[in-house]
Amino acid sequence: MVDLTNKVILITGASRGIGSEIARALGSAGASVILHHGRGAAEAEALAREIGAERAHTVGADLSRPGAAQTLFHDALAWQGRVDVLVNNAGIAPTATIDDPFEHWSATWAQTLQVNLVALADLCREATLHYRTRGGGTIINIASRAAFRGDNPDAMHYAASKGAVVALTRSIARGYAREGVLAYAVAPGWVRTEMAEAYLREHAADIARDIPLGDVAPPQEVGNVVAFLASGLARHMTGATLDINGASYVR
Ligand code: NAD
Repeated sequence: MVDLTNKVILITGASRGIGSEIARALGSAGASVILHHGRGAAEAEALAREIGAERAHTVGADLSRPGAAQTLFHDALAWQGRVDVLVNNAGIAPTATIDDPFEHWSATWAQTLQVNLVALADLCREATLHYRTRGGGTIINIASRAAFRGDNPDAMHYAASKGAVVALTRSIARGYAREGVLAYAVAPGWVRTEMAEAYLREHAADIARDIPLGDVAPPQEVGNVVAFLASGLARHMTGATLDINGASYVR
């Protein structure tokens, strides 16, 4: 059903975790993929070989650096001259609480908002400017259940960044639909990846109890949802957020 042949799709943070499974799902549906990586250049290149060199391209950028996202989008455009779909997946979840020294608290807020929100917003801006020159395009932002439910006291900055991602996505959907720009958010609960692994190991029993479906989501399910949204099969869902959390938080 999902056919992404002839679509050029930029995925941030594609070297591992959810991002690499999104890239695999899009690649198997026929898309040409631009795999952005931070530090994982070797992993991104291995994934590009797996998908097929003619349909996969890698670009590096450190999204903690202000302005890097703009350069990244231009580097991505240089490959095929266009981007049809942008998937903002890269993200970080460092911890800080009100009991930590102020310097740590403050630096953690700044770093998290830069990577999870400001770099993502810069990429949305570049994509929207590009899409309006060519009759439209799609943005898919990976948010989190934390955007709606809130998070633990050591991850308030993370929840706040993801809440802002949802608000930004809705604003783009409302503001640019007339120019053919579609914007969706995806809000996973726990997903089995490196970002989550240590916490999941430590709190396995509590987490399983909290999820009616009985287990955390495999990253492939996020890939499947993104492939569906990228296909254009549900254009009128623009502005929506899709939850993937085993019914642990039903809105
Ligand atoms: P991960 O840590 O395995 O992967 C994160 C990706 O982001 C990596 O590819 C990394 O290179 C990239 N990245 C991080 N900082 C970067 C930087 N400064 N510059 C460039 N790239 C950078 O995490 P994941 O679990 O795959 O998470 C992917 C997305 O899904 C994130 O936005 C995360 O917030 C979200 N999410 C994850 C879970 C979960 O339980 N794993 C739940 C909800 C939402």
